[in-house]
Amino acid sequence: MSDNIFLKIVNKELPADIVYEDDIAIAFNDISPQAPTHILIIPKKEITKLTDSTSNDTELLGHLLFVAKKITDDLKIENYRVVINNGSEAGQTVFHLHLHVLAGRTFGWPPG
Ligand code: 5GP
Repeated sequence: MSDNIFLKIVNKELPADIVYEDDIAIAFNDISPQAPTHILIIPKKEITKLTDSTSNDTELLGHLLFVAKKITDDLKIENYRVVINNGSEAGQTVFHLHLHVLAGRTFGWPPG
């Protein structure tokens, strides 16, 4: 069994509060939300981080962003932030590509 926790969520080996799913992607609430809305969108395909994606993943990467648009549309959220932490120094702790969608509070810039 893989020790990739997000792949376990994809394979329904670990429970998650799933808010969206299709053949390519799955989205679920973050277990430790950093904003009133904090959703993670991940590809079902195993990609460790954005750096490890290839030109074959162009459509998949666009799809993940479109899922962010679709979910926020459905939730009627107009102000939100989409974040990808790529690599441990950028804050990545789970090494399966994911988009954070954060909303429901004011965000500062630059990010910490
Ligand atoms: P990263 O730091 O890699 O950009 O983001 C990983 C995110 O995954 C964190 O916000 C963390 O709270 C979330 N997370 C870690 N383990 C789990 C889990 O088992 N279930 C859910 N739903 N979220 C998780």
